[in-house]
Amino acid sequence: MKPMPEDWDRAVAVVAHPDDLEYGVASVVARWTRQGKQVSYLLVTKGEAGIAGMDPGQVAPLRMEEERRSAAVVGVTDVEFLDYQDGLVEYGLALRRDLAAALRRLQPQVVIGQSFDLTWGEEGPVNHADHRAVGLATLDACRDAANEWVFPDAGPRAPDIRDAYVAGTGAPTHFVDVTDTIEAGVASLREHQAYIEGLGREFDPDEFLKNMAGYVGLGAGCEYAVAFHRYPMG
Ligand SMILES: [Zn+2]
Repeated sequence: MKPMPEDWDRAVAVVAHPDDLEYGVASVVARWTRQGKQVSYLLVTKGEAGIAGMDPGQVAPLRMEEERRSAAVVGVTDVEFLDYQDGLVEYGLALRRDLAAALRRLQPQVVIGQSFDLTWGEEGPVNHADHRAVGLATLDACRDAANEWVFPDAGPRAPDIRDAYVAGTGAPTHFVDVTDTIEAGVASLREHQAYIEGLGREFDPDEFLKNMAGYVGLGAGCEYAVAFHRYPMG
Protein backbone atom coordinates (compact mmCIF):
# COMPACT_ATOMS: atom_id res chain seq x y z
CA MET A 1 0.00 0.00 0.00
CA LYS A 2 1.13 3.53 -0.82
CA PRO A 3 -0.05 6.75 0.80
CA MET A 4 -2.98 8.24 -1.11
CA PRO A 5 -1.98 11.44 -2.95
CA GLU A 6 -3.63 14.54 -1.47
CA ASP A 7 -2.82 17.08 -4.20
CA TRP A 8 -6.46 17.81 -5.02
CA ASP A 9 -9.23 20.06 -3.70
CA ARG A 10 -12.65 18.52 -4.35
CA ALA A 11 -13.98 15.04 -3.59
CA VAL A 12 -17.40 13.41 -3.66
CA ALA A 13 -18.13 10.32 -1.57
CA VAL A 14 -20.91 8.12 -2.92
CA VAL A 15 -22.62 5.38 -0.88
CA ALA A 16 -25.96 3.60 -0.63
CA HIS A 17 -26.99 4.31 2.96
CA PRO A 18 -26.65 6.75 5.85
CA ASP A 19 -23.89 5.25 8.06
CA ASP A 20 -21.91 3.58 5.22
CA LEU A 21 -19.33 6.39 5.22
CA GLU A 22 -19.10 6.37 8.99
CA TYR A 23 -17.71 2.82 9.12
CA GLY A 24 -14.19 4.05 8.38
CA VAL A 25 -14.16 6.72 5.68
CA ALA A 26 -15.33 9.56 7.96
CA SER A 27 -11.96 9.59 9.76
CA VAL A 28 -10.32 10.25 6.39
CA VAL A 29 -12.85 12.94 5.52
CA ALA A 30 -12.07 14.70 8.80
CA ARG A 31 -8.40 14.80 7.80
CA TRP A 32 -9.20 16.21 4.37
CA THR A 33 -11.59 18.92 5.54
CA ARG A 34 -8.97 20.01 8.10
CA GLN A 35 -6.62 20.42 5.13
CA GLY A 36 -9.21 22.75 3.56
CA LYS A 37 -10.50 20.31 0.97
CA GLN A 38 -14.13 20.36 -0.12
CA VAL A 39 -15.87 17.00 0.41
CA SER A 40 -19.50 16.32 -0.55
CA TYR A 41 -21.59 13.31 0.41
CA LEU A 42 -23.99 11.69 -2.03
CA LEU A 43 -26.34 9.05 -0.63
CA VAL A 44 -28.41 6.94 -2.98
CA THR A 45 -31.06 6.04 -0.38
CA LYS A 46 -32.31 7.46 2.90
CA GLY A 47 -31.72 4.17 4.72
CA GLU A 48 -35.40 3.79 5.60
CA ALA A 49 -35.26 -0.04 5.68
CA GLY A 50 -32.39 -0.04 8.17
CA ILE A 51 -34.07 -0.30 11.57
CA ALA A 52 -35.97 -3.44 12.55
CA GLY A 53 -39.39 -2.80 14.07
CA MET A 54 -39.53 0.85 13.00
CA ASP A 55 -41.66 2.12 10.14
CA PRO A 56 -39.68 3.25 7.06
CA GLY A 57 -41.74 6.45 6.88
CA GLN A 58 -40.47 7.43 10.32
CA VAL A 59 -36.96 6.14 9.76
CA ALA A 60 -36.11 8.07 6.59
CA PRO A 61 -36.16 11.60 8.08
CA LEU A 62 -34.45 10.37 11.24
CA ARG A 63 -31.58 8.77 9.36
CA MET A 64 -31.18 11.74 7.01
CA GLU A 65 -30.83 13.95 10.06
CA GLU A 66 -28.33 11.56 11.65
CA GLU A 67 -26.31 11.54 8.44
CA ARG A 68 -26.24 15.34 8.28
CA ARG A 69 -25.03 15.47 11.87
CA SER A 70 -22.39 12.79 11.18
CA ALA A 71 -21.20 14.77 8.18
CA ALA A 72 -21.03 18.03 10.14
CA VAL A 73 -18.78 16.38 12.76
CA VAL A 74 -16.13 15.79 10.07
CA GLY A 75 -16.56 19.16 8.35
CA VAL A 76 -19.01 18.25 5.58
CA THR A 77 -22.04 20.45 4.97
CA ASP A 78 -23.00 19.30 1.48
CA VAL A 79 -25.08 16.11 1.90
CA GLU A 80 -27.37 15.06 -0.93
CA PHE A 81 -29.85 12.19 -1.06
CA LEU A 82 -31.15 10.52 -4.20
CA ASP A 83 -34.59 8.99 -3.95
CA TYR A 84 -33.87 5.28 -4.43
CA GLN A 85 -35.67 2.74 -2.28
CA ASP A 86 -33.50 1.27 0.47
CA GLY A 87 -32.85 -2.41 -0.10
CA LEU A 88 -34.01 -2.38 -3.71
CA VAL A 89 -31.28 -0.41 -5.51
CA GLU A 90 -30.45 -1.90 -8.89
CA TYR A 91 -27.35 -1.45 -10.95
CA GLY A 92 -28.37 0.04 -14.29
CA LEU A 93 -28.56 3.04 -16.56
CA ALA A 94 -30.96 4.98 -14.32
CA LEU A 95 -28.53 4.80 -11.39
CA ARG A 96 -25.51 5.54 -13.59
CA ARG A 97 -27.31 8.55 -15.03
CA ASP A 98 -28.31 9.97 -11.64
CA LEU A 99 -24.79 9.52 -10.28
CA ALA A 100 -23.22 11.03 -13.40
CA ALA A 101 -25.56 14.03 -13.15
CA ALA A 102 -24.52 14.58 -9.52
CA LEU A 103 -20.82 14.28 -10.38
CA ARG A 104 -21.28 16.81 -13.20
CA ARG A 105 -22.94 19.19 -10.76
CA LEU A 106 -20.23 18.75 -8.12
CA GLN A 107 -17.19 18.55 -10.47
CA PRO A 108 -14.86 16.53 -8.20
CA GLN A 109 -11.26 15.52 -8.86
CA VAL A 110 -11.49 12.48 -6.61
CA VAL A 111 -14.47 10.16 -6.09
CA ILE A 112 -14.76 7.89 -3.08
CA GLY A 113 -16.89 4.79 -3.52
CA GLN A 114 -17.88 1.71 -1.58
CA SER A 115 -16.96 -1.94 -2.04
CA PHE A 116 -18.87 -3.92 -4.62
CA ASP A 117 -17.17 -7.18 -3.64
CA LEU A 118 -19.63 -10.05 -3.23
CA THR A 119 -18.49 -10.74 0.34
CA TRP A 120 -16.70 -8.92 3.17
CA GLY A 121 -13.36 -10.69 3.04
CA GLU A 122 -12.95 -14.17 1.67
CA GLU A 123 -15.15 -15.92 4.18
CA GLY A 124 -17.22 -13.01 5.43
CA PRO A 125 -20.92 -12.32 5.00
CA VAL A 126 -22.43 -11.30 1.66
CA ASN A 127 -22.03 -7.59 0.96
CA HIS A 128 -25.40 -5.79 0.75
CA ALA A 129 -26.98 -5.76 -2.72
CA ASP A 130 -27.35 -1.96 -2.53
CA HIS A 131 -23.62 -1.59 -1.80
CA ARG A 132 -22.72 -3.79 -4.78
CA ALA A 133 -25.03 -1.86 -7.12
CA VAL A 134 -23.94 1.58 -5.94
CA GLY A 135 -20.23 0.73 -5.71
CA LEU A 136 -20.04 -0.52 -9.27
CA ALA A 137 -22.31 2.19 -10.71
CA THR A 138 -20.14 4.85 -9.05
CA LEU A 139 -17.07 3.72 -10.99
CA ASP A 140 -19.01 3.66 -14.24
CA ALA A 141 -20.60 7.03 -13.52
CA CYS A 142 -17.12 8.58 -13.22
CA ARG A 143 -16.47 7.65 -16.83
CA ASP A 144 -20.02 8.55 -17.92
CA ALA A 145 -19.73 11.98 -16.29
CA ALA A 146 -16.59 12.75 -18.29
CA ASN A 147 -18.13 11.82 -21.64
CA GLU A 148 -20.30 14.55 -23.14
CA TRP A 149 -22.02 12.04 -25.44
CA VAL A 150 -23.24 9.86 -22.60
CA PHE A 151 -26.31 11.28 -20.83
CA PRO A 152 -25.98 14.59 -22.75
CA ASP A 153 -28.98 16.08 -20.92
CA ALA A 154 -27.40 15.50 -17.47
CA GLY A 155 -25.35 18.68 -17.33
CA PRO A 156 -21.95 19.76 -18.63
CA ARG A 157 -19.28 17.06 -18.49
CA ALA A 158 -17.03 16.53 -15.47
CA PRO A 159 -13.54 16.40 -16.98
CA ASP A 160 -11.47 16.58 -13.78
CA ILE A 161 -12.12 13.17 -12.18
CA ARG A 162 -8.65 11.65 -11.88
CA ASP A 163 -9.19 8.68 -9.63
CA ALA A 164 -11.88 6.76 -7.83
CA TYR A 165 -10.94 5.18 -4.51
CA VAL A 166 -13.02 2.32 -3.19
CA ALA A 167 -13.09 1.72 0.56
CA GLY A 168 -13.57 -1.60 2.31
CA THR A 169 -12.18 -3.86 -0.41
CA GLY A 170 -10.10 -6.97 0.08
CA ALA A 171 -7.35 -5.68 -2.20
CA PRO A 172 -6.26 -2.19 -1.09
CA THR A 173 -3.62 -0.24 -3.01
CA HIS A 174 -3.49 2.97 -0.94
CA PHE A 175 -3.93 4.14 2.63
CA VAL A 176 -4.60 7.37 4.50
CA ASP A 177 -3.11 7.96 7.95
CA VAL A 178 -5.99 8.86 10.28
CA THR A 179 -4.10 8.81 13.57
CA ASP A 180 -4.94 12.48 14.18
CA THR A 181 -8.60 12.25 13.15
CA ILE A 182 -9.82 8.84 14.30
CA GLU A 183 -11.61 10.48 17.26
CA ALA A 184 -13.63 12.64 14.86
CA GLY A 185 -14.45 9.48 12.90
CA VAL A 186 -15.70 7.79 16.07
CA ALA A 187 -17.80 10.85 16.97
CA SER A 188 -19.23 10.82 13.45
CA LEU A 189 -20.35 7.18 13.76
CA ARG A 190 -21.84 7.87 17.20
CA GLU A 191 -24.27 10.33 15.57
CA HIS A 192 -26.13 7.34 14.10
CA GLN A 193 -27.75 6.85 17.46
CA ALA A 194 -31.14 5.50 16.38
CA TYR A 195 -29.47 3.11 13.99
CA ILE A 196 -26.99 1.84 16.58
CA GLU A 197 -29.75 1.40 19.18
CA GLY A 198 -31.80 -0.44 16.55
CA LEU A 199 -29.05 -3.03 16.13
CA GLY A 200 -30.32 -4.59 19.33
CA ARG A 201 -26.86 -5.64 20.50
CA GLU A 202 -23.86 -4.11 22.16
CA PHE A 203 -21.85 -2.04 19.67
CA ASP A 204 -18.98 0.26 20.58
CA PRO A 205 -18.04 2.65 17.72
CA ASP A 206 -14.74 3.51 19.39
CA GLU A 207 -13.62 -0.09 19.72
CA PHE A 208 -14.90 -1.07 16.27
CA LEU A 209 -13.23 1.75 14.33
CA LYS A 210 -9.96 1.63 16.24
CA ASN A 211 -9.67 -2.14 15.78
CA MET A 212 -10.20 -1.80 12.04
CA ALA A 213 -7.96 1.25 11.57
CA GLY A 214 -5.34 -0.22 13.88
CA TYR A 215 -5.17 -3.35 11.76
CA VAL A 216 -4.76 -1.33 8.54
CA GLY A 217 -2.23 0.86 10.35
CA LEU A 218 -0.01 -2.18 10.98
CA GLY A 219 0.43 -2.57 7.22
CA ALA A 220 0.67 1.17 6.60
CA GLY A 221 3.27 1.93 9.26
CA CYS A 222 1.16 4.29 11.39
CA GLU A 223 -1.13 3.89 14.37
CA TYR A 224 -4.45 4.19 12.54
CA ALA A 225 -5.11 4.10 8.79
CA VAL A 226 -7.91 3.54 6.30
CA ALA A 227 -7.33 1.56 3.10
CA PHE A 228 -8.63 2.08 -0.44
CA HIS A 229 -8.29 0.50 -3.85
CA ARG A 230 -7.48 3.06 -6.51
CA TYR A 231 -9.13 2.98 -9.93
CA PRO A 232 -7.41 5.54 -12.19
CA MET A 233 -9.82 7.36 -14.48
CA GLY A 234 -7.34 9.25 -16.63
ZN1 LIG B 1 -25.09 0.23 3.85
